[in-house]
Amino acid sequence: MNIGIVGYQGDVSEHVELLEKLDRQYKREINVVLVKSVKSLSTVSGLIIPGGESTTMYRLIKEFGLFDAIRQRGLEGMPIMGTCAGLIIISNDDPNERVRSLGLLNVQVRRNAYGRQAESFFEEIDIDGIGKFNAVFIRAPQIEKWNNVTVLAKYDGMPVMVKDGNIIGLTFHPELTEDPRIHEMFLDNIRRGRDVSTGDIDWPLYDYV
Ligand code: GLN
Repeated sequence: MNIGIVGYQGDVSEHVELLEKLDRQYKREINVVLVKSVKSLSTVSGLIIPGGESTTMYRLIKEFGLFDAIRQRGLEGMPIMGTCAGLIIISNDDPNERVRSLGLLNVQVRRNAYGRQAESFFEEIDIDGIGKFNAVFIRAPQIEKWNNVTVLAKYDGMPVMVKDGNIIGLTFHPELTEDPRIHEMFLDNIRRGRDVSTGDIDWPLYDYV
């Protein structure tokens, strides 16, 4: 199974490492593809848009023709997970912002909502279907408005992990921990090839000790 990571900028290698760990330990038959062109996008069954700098990432995916192509694949049902800057890219446009977003997830986010880099923090959150998870927030955005999305986790009363069918968005960085459960959940969505918003999926399929 080919899993793509938008590969221009940001914490790409951390996502690669976590996917490769899952591949080695749990025999998930994953082939990681760094997506930098429409051609490479066409080979993948699911896509991760990593954290980084959303203004830069937006310019690059636009420049290389991926903006419309990712949007199209997302609308067709391909699973997409956006983490932090990646969430900003898949969200709805905030008219005050410099980043144009794909509008795949019906949330509006405020960039850098918790302050500068130095205000980054760790927090234990509780994720529906997963349980306690150590979340790393780095110059994180905040989901300020949301509509018709399933909220999977909150911090300080605000959603930090949401999904809508094939699209999942997180304001934090699961790739910066050793804990692969969120990536595992994402892979299960792809493998089962169906809408996770219908519920009744008994993930995670494995116990992590
Ligand atoms: N503040 C960054 C942005 O707006 C996101 C930070 C991150 O991905 N860690 O793009």
